[in-house]
Amino acid sequence: MKPLALFGGTFDPVHLGHLSVAWEASELLDAEVRLLPASVPPHRPPPIAGAAQRTAMLRAALRGQARLTLDTRELDRSGPSYTIDTLHELRAEQGDRPLVLLLGADAFAGLPSWHRWRELFEVAHLGVLSRPGVEALLPGELQREIAGRRGTDAADLRDRPAGRVLDLAVTSLEISATRIRELLAAGRDPRYLLPCGLFDDPALLGPYRKR
Ligand code: ATP
Repeated sequence: MKPLALFGGTFDPVHLGHLSVAWEASELLDAEVRLLPASVPPHRPPPIAGAAQRTAMLRAALRGQARLTLDTRELDRSGPSYTIDTLHELRAEQGDRPLVLLLGADAFAGLPSWHRWRELFEVAHLGVLSRPGVEALLPGELQREIAGRRGTDAADLRDRPAGRVLDLAVTSLEISATRIRELLAAGRDPRYLLPCGLFDDPALLGPYRKR
């Protein structure tokens, strides 16, 4: 069975870095990839764009292809969304299907600050997406947790539902939502850092533009 990969984030806004690494992960793992926007991220300031606006941007960004899909369950829930709860819900729906939580290298290094982070390995594999400018040094407790979990290729994620960690060498794109928000706030037009669908409706990027 094809693994189901989940790529969580605030997507404030979704950009070509997200889409390109998610697409390549889907190819490398031969997996269905769902983008999973977070409602009230427990670890960071609230997003500039609201849930409905971020959903509209994601829908516009994903138009015209079927490899990447959208899962809005965390936005539909009230209150903070913990990844571990979402993964348990998906596990209940998907039976023994391999689940893969996709994380950029920066997010992976911060994993020990997540709610019940060690439990994540019981419910899903982790796919770590290379990201430019990210220091490769991992905290000691994370290194110890993953020492016996390293996989070497995608086949390692198919023979069990959860528990392995695999590095995914995706094409480096030095794009961040922070940079895009800065450019838009400064009145610039980061046209080729964003999916073209975001320019179809001027209201989509409205929350970030300078007034
Ligand atoms: P911000 O700049 O607001 O922190 P971001 O660009 O890092 O945003 P998020 O929505 O916070 O985007 O990230 C969601 C996930 O996407 C994280 O796991 C993050 O590491 C990953 N990610 C984002 N941009 C890239 C990129 N250019 N290359 C690889 N991974 C990325």
